[in-house]
Amino acid sequence: MKEKVKVGIIICDRYHKCAGGKCLRALRNREGAFSLYKDREVELVGYTTCDGCPGGNVEYAPAEMKKNGAEVIHLATGLVVGYPPCPRISSFKKFIKEKFGLETVVGTHPIPQNYYDTHSKLATWNSEVWQETIKDVICDEEMRKAYD
Ligand code: SF4
Repeated sequence: MKEKVKVGIIICDRYHKCAGGKCLRALRNREGAFSLYKDREVELVGYTTCDGCPGGNVEYAPAEMKKNGAEVIHLATGLVVGYPPCPRISSFKKFIKEKFGLETVVGTHPIPQNYYDTHSKLATWNSEVWQETIKDVICDEEMRKAYD
């Protein structure tokens, strides 16, 4: 097995009461965006919210996660499935790279099928940019249903 990777998760504050069940399950099973670490041990070294629009905690939380050894920050799947999706994802990614030198992955657990169905009807992700953004969490239907 390759070297362990340490990750931090930042969730959308609209889900601030979330206990992290889907993210932690996906992490454990290496599903969704965590399939990037299929052959690696993963340690979660931080978990917090963006603190609400416009995401002020993104200015600070990655520093604390980095002190704990984080190499990658995951922006949770809630940022892409909420209504509307977070409009600041690309800004967060650029900022986290520039300020902290950390890579960012968009997504944690697979997109649940019910969100997939609604956003398909809304054509939310009908662009190359969005398809690239959700590529690690779109998964197949069976997997999406498993996270409904
Ligand atoms: S939409 Fe974006 S900035 Fe607003 S609460 Fe959610 S993650 Fe934070």
